[in-house]
Amino acid sequence: MATELTLANLQQRISNLVSERDWDQFHSPKNLAIALSNEVAELLELYMWSDEPRKPEEVDKELADVLYYVLLFASKTKIDVLQALSEKLAETEVKYPVEKFKGNAKKYSDL
Ligand SMILES: [Mg+2]
Repeated sequence: MATELTLANLQQRISNLVSERDWDQFHSPKNLAIALSNEVAELLELYMWSDEPRKPEEVDKELADVLYYVLLFASKTKIDVLQALSEKLAETEVKYPVEKFKGNAKKYSDL
């Protein structure tokens, strides 16, 4: 039976993948942040010079690469990424109240 797809299970699979290959020695937070940035750039590259992806079949793979490094970075730095996201969403909800920002893409400090 397949393991349930949860963030915790995926983080455990990533941890297993890394430890089985002895890759942790290469995973300083700085190196992981660089790798994350590279994966974001690979996602962006698919859209270079076009509003549509050059290779649509690659978008989910690049997005998965981004999430892989987000989860690996979170594990390495012991950040509870779900809690961090929840707190950030709460901040954003306060900064961008619906009554002021519905249909408005301006930055909160520019309004
Ligand atoms: Mg990639």
